[in-house]
Amino acid sequence: MQPKALAMAITGATASLMLASGAAQAQETFEWKMVTSWPKNFPGVGQGPERLAKLVDEMSDGRLTIEVFGAGQLVPGFEVFDAVSEGTAEMGHSASYYWKGKVPAAQFFAAVPFGMNAQEMNAWLHYGGGLELWNELYEPFGVDVMAAGASGVQMGGWYNKEINSLDDLDGLKMRMPGLGGEVMSRMGVAIVNMPGGEIFTSLQSGAIDATEWIGPYNDLAFGLHQAADYYYYPGWHEPTVMFEAIVNDEAMQSLPNDLQAILRTAIRDVNQDVLDEYTARNNDALETLVNEHDVELRRLPDDVLAEAKRISADVVAELAESSDMAGKIYDSYSAFQDKVVNYHAISEQAYYNARNPEGDTTTAE
Ligand code: CA
Repeated sequence: MQPKALAMAITGATASLMLASGAAQAQETFEWKMVTSWPKNFPGVGQGPERLAKLVDEMSDGRLTIEVFGAGQLVPGFEVFDAVSEGTAEMGHSASYYWKGKVPAAQFFAAVPFGMNAQEMNAWLHYGGGLELWNELYEPFGVDVMAAGASGVQMGGWYNKEINSLDDLDGLKMRMPGLGGEVMSRMGVAIVNMPGGEIFTSLQSGAIDATEWIGPYNDLAFGLHQAADYYYYPGWHEPTVMFEAIVNDEAMQSLPNDLQAILRTAIRDVNQDVLDEYTARNNDALETLVNEHDVELRRLPDDVLAEAKRISADVVAELAESSDMAGKIYDSYSAFQDKVVNYHAISEQAYYNARNPEGDTTTAE
């Protein structure tokens, strides 16, 4: 064989080997299930998982496909964590405070009353050590976690009577999850926990007198204005909720590196996208609620907010004392919050004040 022909033969062999290994890799496909705590295709938070599945499908050219299940379709909304931990589904989309019975410290990663907002939570999670602590917390359950969307500051909730002082809360039955619910219960409110899908009928039937859900965009979609007249702000109990994407650790490790990177990149995209959608749509929805549905928009009274803040500090401190891990998370969270609050006093807050020196002009009464 002439040297040139030999070289061509070797090149050809190498090329076909490369082709063979490339083809083998391209044929390795993964079909995953993602269980969620939201009604299927629900606006905002329910769109996050749909977008995630679509992105991963496109970015991986179909090598990783994810079927999204609404709450109750494969497992109930409150069993998402267990389903992912046990491998019933490879991944899930939810909010970590739903697991407070199993992992109390998880509540720090969803919403802390009078705690950090979405911008601040994202900073802590991604550049302040928060995400490492979150993964350390879930590690015993074989679950990986990433932030996967934020609501922004929520609304205070829907009430079927006017709240003019602390006394008006006494004896109310209300749906409010997480630490905020614990605070309200110490303010005389009977707290009932239920998934989103049960809220409307419970409020309409009078099984509960009040509820919080998310904000105008989602609350309008649920029709909560048809079941209560008064819509209160601000959502002191949820300065944001961070949503979570959880992945069964073995399932994650079974993916080749590029698919793991695709999945993580898509989750990071969805994390920002969900917040963007809420920011864009909440105001339009609020105008619709007030102008078309005659909703009575009210600010929570000062004494309610002051008492909620006082009790919140106790409730959060008690959670911090519940375990070594909770204490570790609390130390990191509160140290970060102290610093960011100082900086935001002269940046975000000073800017808001300069932009709108009249303050809240939504309700004149
Ligand atoms: Ca909420």
